[in-house]
Amino acid sequence: GELASRLKVNVAQVIKKLMGLGIMAAISEVVDFDTASLVAEELGAKVEHEVHVTIEERLFEVDEDKDEDLEERPPVVVVMGHVDHGKTSILDAIRKTRVTAGEAGGITQHIGAYQVTMNGKPITFLDTPGHEAFTSMRARGANLTDIAVLVVAADDGIMPQTVESINHAKAANTTIIVAINKMDKPTANPNHVMEQLTQYELVPEEWGGDTICVPVSALTGQGIEDLLESINLVAEVKELKANPHRRAKGAVIEARLDKGQGPVATILVQKGTLHQGDVVIAGTSVGRVRVMRDDQGAILKEAGPSMPVEITGLTEVPAAGDLFDAVEDEKLARELADRRAAEQKEQQFSAYKKVTLDNLFSQIAEGERKELAIIVKADVQGSAEAVKQSLEKISNDEVRVRVIHAGVGAINKSDVMLANAGNAIIIGFNVRPDPVAKEEAAQAEVELRMYRVIYDAINDVTDAMKGMLAPKF
Ligand code: GDP
Repeated sequence: GELASRLKVNVAQVIKKLMGLGIMAAISEVVDFDTASLVAEELGAKVEHEVHVTIEERLFEVDEDKDEDLEERPPVVVVMGHVDHGKTSILDAIRKTRVTAGEAGGITQHIGAYQVTMNGKPITFLDTPGHEAFTSMRARGANLTDIAVLVVAADDGIMPQTVESINHAKAANTTIIVAINKMDKPTANPNHVMEQLTQYELVPEEWGGDTICVPVSALTGQGIEDLLESINLVAEVKELKANPHRRAKGAVIEARLDKGQGPVATILVQKGTLHQGDVVIAGTSVGRVRVMRDDQGAILKEAGPSMPVEITGLTEVPAAGDLFDAVEDEKLARELADRRAAEQKEQQFSAYKKVTLDNLFSQIAEGERKELAIIVKADVQGSAEAVKQSLEKISNDEVRVRVIHAGVGAINKSDVMLANAGNAIIIGFNVRPDPVAKEEAAQAEVELRMYRVIYDAINDVTDAMKGMLAPKF
């Protein structure tokens, strides 16, 4: 029927053509695209498959670069390790090598990342010690770093955060270079550190493994140049490349609101080249790059792969770890940013509003909840009904307890969907959730509570309404 009306022909004609194809169709029959296009073509229409194009597809360049467009890029390095083992001191010592090398600078400003040059090759350091930044960025899908310098104090050895750092670096597929720090101390014992490293599958090169260990002292500067040379060596082996001939793409390292300049963000360009005046979208923030500076405050007109720059011109402060894209269409970018903002708000809203027995009382107290919706599942119909009636009797002046569904059998996906839509909790009696329901509930943050005794359930709900539910551990 619909096909006929779109073709502006009689339904009978379409049905006849379908019969010709061996399909006995009724007027409300659903046919697939191939069949419909055969019929349409036979009736003299031109057929095109309607493709739904998303904003992202219209806005972003295809994320595939041809081999011949790829060019060498500097490595991006993060410094990790246990607290007090010298991460900050090493980052400072490295920064100083630039000054002693007679390069311009001296007035380094902290923008969250910087570049130094070793033997003519630039190296980018993320100047955010601690791996929190690193992991939060990875959680957002921005795998920024190529190499992790693992700082281990020679007088202290491997400590809990050292192990954490190793695990994070490994999970991110980052090559680890070990800087054995504080070598100036008389109690330094680099051999002990190397021995410990082998327990974490980091076998030093000296011992036939492939982990580079560099003894350094952030205090005296000993070994810092060796460390930089090792980084260059690893970078060379990794053959790090990116296409500079495309619109820029990367991630936000840090961002703040400046009284005079408005939102200021340090971003790392991962591919492409960012130009002054480019329109960028970072998370929910859109704007034109007004001023772009490097870590020494010098104004830049453009920035290529692995280059950290500070930019102004965004409309709002993006979050560290947000991905950014330079785009052509500012209007479309704003549309996408608005949509992202709306999605974020909705997520926060729904997460906040999801009711559980634990947050029930605070929601009641804040006047946000006048009703507690419950789904009851039990092993037999008799108990389902009994529970339903007992629960509904708990209603008081402030809150009405309403059982929106009472049924028999395991808690299934449709129970969870119902609970999710109706913001209900699910109570089970001598039944369990099936695996799908369990997963769906976790994802939708729907509370599932299992009981064997009706009395216990009534008690818990009563207590929760008074804010007296004992916390579960
Ligand atoms: P972080 O917590 O890993 O960033 O460690 P810091 O860089 O703040 O250093 C912790 C302490 O160790 C500070 O008191 C530093 O002065 C000291 N320190 C760092 N590197 C060295 C070093 O190479 N030799 C000595 N003797 N002390 C160091």
